[in-house]
Amino acid sequence: MAPSPAADRRHTKDTDIESRNANERSIIGHTTDRKIATKLRRVRRQIADWLTPQRCDVCQQVHSETLVCNDCYPSLPFQAGCCDRCGQSYAATETYCGRCIESPPYFDRCFSAFRYESPISDQIQHLKYGDCPSLARKLAQLMVRELVANNITKPQLLVPVPMHHQRLHTRGFNQAALLCRHLANELKIEHQLGLVRKTRSTAPQVDLTLMQRKSNLRGAFTVTRPTVNSDIAIIDDVLTTGSTANEIAKLLKRNGANDVQVWTLAHTL
Ligand SMILES: [Zn+2]
Ligand SMILES: [Zn+2]
Repeated sequence: MAPSPAADRRHTKDTDIESRNANERSIIGHTTDRKIATKLRRVRRQIADWLTPQRCDVCQQVHSETLVCNDCYPSLPFQAGCCDRCGQSYAATETYCGRCIESPPYFDRCFSAFRYESPISDQIQHLKYGDCPSLARKLAQLMVRELVANNITKPQLLVPVPMHHQRLHTRGFNQAALLCRHLANELKIEHQLGLVRKTRSTAPQVDLTLMQRKSNLRGAFTVTRPTVNSDIAIIDDVLTTGSTANEIAKLLKRNGANDVQVWTLAHTL
């Protein structure tokens, strides 16, 4: 006997649900496979790192525990001639740039160790897109050396610029959080990876104007605990206009932070 139209609809519905579940299982399966493959690749790279003698990234000649040997270190693109407040470069001898005198950012000081130029920019690209999170420790060591050389005041707490969970899922790690953890260990400062959360995914800042950057970030972050009377440094790999750091500094100050610095490895401008 031919099935009734109602039974037909039920059958179609059941088939749809089964096929959707199968799709979801396959997506989860692929994601899990990709995660395992990524982890295996990182373990293989870590073992290769341990077995291969570490060489200076500039001269490639000298065995060096750090990224760059002592002879090559002075050739790195150190940051200089920047406003102490916002970190932007400007051609003047005053401590603060005209923009900060007129309308200062929410953060109190910005320190970028290097200009975003080779070999630092290459290493940052390698860290982020070359799936090489183990590089973060060596880059953090460079930052520590410059923070100490420039007598930068130590805060009580380090927090990384957070990444939205969707992006974190895609990349597998937040490079700012890795730098933050290594800096905290080296400098013996407390760090809280979850103090600031990114609750909304935003368009890449790089394609936007300054005004668009500000509205793009509005409401994108949240602070999970009060920060009363604390001195905090926000950690990121690269500073561009400082809009992201400023938005986070605004929230930290509104939650009671006393002093907020921004520390980045490199600065693009
Ligand atoms: Zn060298
Ligand atoms: Zn300034």
